[in-house]
Amino acid sequence: MQAEIESSILSRSTIHALNTDMNILTFILVLFLYLHGTLTLFSIYSHRSLSHKAVKYHPAVEKVFRFLLWLTNGVPNNFHTASHLQHHKFTDKPGDSYSVYVHGWWKRGVVVPLKIILGVLLWLPHSKDAPEDFPSKWKVNYPIDYAVKYPRLGRFVFLLFNIVVFGLPGILLWAVFNILVRLFIVTFPDLVFHVVGYKNFDMPNNSRNIPTYLLPILWAGEELHHNHHRYPGKVNYAMKPGEFDLGYQYIRFLCWLKLATIK
Ligand SMILES: [Zn+2]
Ligand SMILES: [Zn+2]
Repeated sequence: MQAEIESSILSRSTIHALNTDMNILTFILVLFLYLHGTLTLFSIYSHRSLSHKAVKYHPAVEKVFRFLLWLTNGVPNNFHTASHLQHHKFTDKPGDSYSVYVHGWWKRGVVVPLKIILGVLLWLPHSKDAPEDFPSKWKVNYPIDYAVKYPRLGRFVFLLFNIVVFGLPGILLWAVFNILVRLFIVTFPDLVFHVVGYKNFDMPNNSRNIPTYLLPILWAGEELHHNHHRYPGKVNYAMKPGEFDLGYQYIRFLCWLKLATIK
């Protein structure tokens, strides 16, 4: 009898723990952690490793990175590499699919963000957010890309995870996160990193660094975008006194664990 009561209390408290009435503070904190984690993986893996080959990870670490990005982001790696290298080649000139100076504020600042929000709400695969002139000739086929094979399944699994852990507020958390992470990855670089901030070098494009103290935790070093445009192959984006690249610190830690090698 005693054991039955204890087990009933235990199962009730477990259910209660799994279906918390999420308060606003928890909501913001978890949302921030999701964003930071995903943007960090995007920076240290999709961007610095796959696109620029500045760092190489242990195969097991790569698998974990790919899996987590599939759950939380769903951007096919081949799509990101192609469009990103295109952005480096034609920065802010015709041919750059991600330039507000080429496509204008209406398209890049209003139409694309609206498409992203609709894409999440209508459950469209991520490629629907791609620019019409997506450069298929730049495609790179990576061996295991869940986002190509199962473009919507990752998001579905992540939605279930949030419902199990947070109850119904998990649906809202998932939706807000999905919209924000796509806006950060697809539109933030050209609407912010090419418009606001300071320059260190003389270059024929509008890339900027955001002062390090403003965004480092959220963007893991990507806010030093101007430095990256000057030296795309460098793994550390901090180049002047006072600049700090959080993503690079994570990479150094993985190097220390012998799970990454800087090229
Ligand atoms: Zn750029
Ligand atoms: Zn780059």
